[in-house]
Amino acid sequence: MNDQLVDELIFTDEAEDRQKPLVHNKWKVMIVDDEPDIHEMTAFAFSNFTYMGVGVEFISAYSGAEAMRLILQHPDTALIFLDVVMERDDSGLTVAKFIRNEVKNLKVKIILRTGQPGQAPEQEVIVAYDINDYKEKHELTDKKLNTVLVTSLRSYSMHETLEQFNFELEKKVAERTIELKAAKESADKANLEKTDFLNFVAHELRTPLTSLRGFISIISDRFEAKLLPLIDTTDKKIQKAISNTQEEFGIMKQEGERLSALINNVLDLAKIEAGRVEWAKDKVDMAEIFKRAAFSTNSLFTDKGLELKTEIQGDGYIITGDTDRLIQVVINLFSNAIKFTDSGNITYKIMRDNKGMRCEIHDTGCGIPKEYIGKVFEKFQQVASAQTNKPKGTGLGLPICKEIIKYHGGDIWAESEEGVGSRFIFLLPLDENCI
Ligand code: ADP
Repeated sequence: MNDQLVDELIFTDEAEDRQKPLVHNKWKVMIVDDEPDIHEMTAFAFSNFTYMGVGVEFISAYSGAEAMRLILQHPDTALIFLDVVMERDDSGLTVAKFIRNEVKNLKVKIILRTGQPGQAPEQEVIVAYDINDYKEKHELTDKKLNTVLVTSLRSYSMHETLEQFNFELEKKVAERTIELKAAKESADKANLEKTDFLNFVAHELRTPLTSLRGFISIISDRFEAKLLPLIDTTDKKIQKAISNTQEEFGIMKQEGERLSALINNVLDLAKIEAGRVEWAKDKVDMAEIFKRAAFSTNSLFTDKGLELKTEIQGDGYIITGDTDRLIQVVINLFSNAIKFTDSGNITYKIMRDNKGMRCEIHDTGCGIPKEYIGKVFEKFQQVASAQTNKPKGTGLGLPICKEIIKYHGGDIWAESEEGVGSRFIFLLPLDENCI
C-alpha cells in the first residue's frame, strides 16, 4: 500500500468514514490478570467509555491458560491488557507468544501490565511478540488508561480497515483475473476456430486444385506429344492458335502454382499467429543458413543471370533457433530479390552488431517506392504488382519472415531507393550475447 493511501486513510474525512468499525457491536477488550480487583476497577472506570460511538465489552481471564482459551473463543478481541506475572513469572509472555506465534493473531493490540517495576521484559521480547505498550499497573488506573484505550482501538480499527481494503483489493484482482482468463479463453477459442476454419477451407481448396493442376499438366503434355504432331502447322491461323494454346497452358500452370503457394502461405501464417508452430531449438551458424538458402535458390539466380555475392565479416554467427524456419526467411528474401531484379547482382552480408548479428540482402532491382516501404511487411501488400498490375507472389512472404524473426527475438525492416535497389535487413541475438 502506498504512502498516499495510508495518509488518506489516516487523515481525511473520508478516511474517518472508512475507519468506522466494520461489524462491531462492542469493542472487545480482554483483561488478563490474577487480581480480581484489577478487573473490577478497569470495568468500572470504563463502563461509559465509547470509541466511534461504540462501547466496550470486557472479557476477563484470571490466568494465562484461561487467556489462551478465551482468545481462541474471541479472535475479534481488539485489545488485551496482559499481566506478566500470574500462575508463573512469565505467564503473560507465554500468552503473548501463543497469540502471535501459534494463533497467528497479529491484529489484537497487547498492552503488558505488571505490578512490580523491574519486571519489564527485554526489548527483544517486546519486538518479537509485537507488544504494543508496556505499563505499570498504577499507571493504568487513571486518565492514562483512557488514552491507551483510544490509541489502541484506533490502531486496531485502522488495521481492520486496511485488512478490509486488502480483502476488497484481492477480491477485485481475483474478479479481474477471472475476466482476463475468460477473455483469453475466448480469444484462444476464436484463434483455434480461425485456424480450424482455415485448415478446412485450405483442404477444400487444395484437393480440387491439386487435381486441376495435375490435369492441366497431363492435357498440356498430351497436346505437345500426341496432338501437335498430327496438326498441319503450315496454316498461319493454326500456328497462332497453337502458340495461344501453349501460352494459355503456361498461364494456367503459373496461376495454379501461385494459388497453391497462396494457400500454403495463408495456412503457415495462420499457424504461426495462432501459436501452433512447434519451433525447433537448434544451435545453428547463420553463415550456414545463408549457404543452404543460396543452394536452394541457385537455379533461380542462374535463370535470371544474377550473380550472388557474399560478404561475411569474421565467423561464429551461432544462434539458437529453428534452422528450417530461418532458411525459409533467407529463401524468401533471396526469391524476392531475384523476382524484383532484372540485372546486376544480389549481395548478402553478415556482420556483428551491438545487439548481436546483422544480416543484409542487397539487390540492384526496381526498388520500392518510399510510401510503400513501411507496408511491405503487412499482409497482402504487393507494391510492385500494383505498379505492373501483374501479381508476382502471394503478398505473404514478408509477413511470415517478420513473424519468424520476431519469434527469434529479432527485428526486420527494408530500406530502398526506387530504380536503384533494395536492402532487407534483419537483426538476431547471437548466443554469445545471451546470458
Ligand atoms: P510477394 O509474394 O508478393 O513477394 P512478399 O510479402 O514477399 O510477397 O513481398 C511483398 C511485396 O514487397 C512484394 O510484392 C513487392 O512489392 C515488395 N518487395 C519485396 N521484396 C522486394 C524487393 N527485393 N524489391 C522490390 N520490392 C520488393
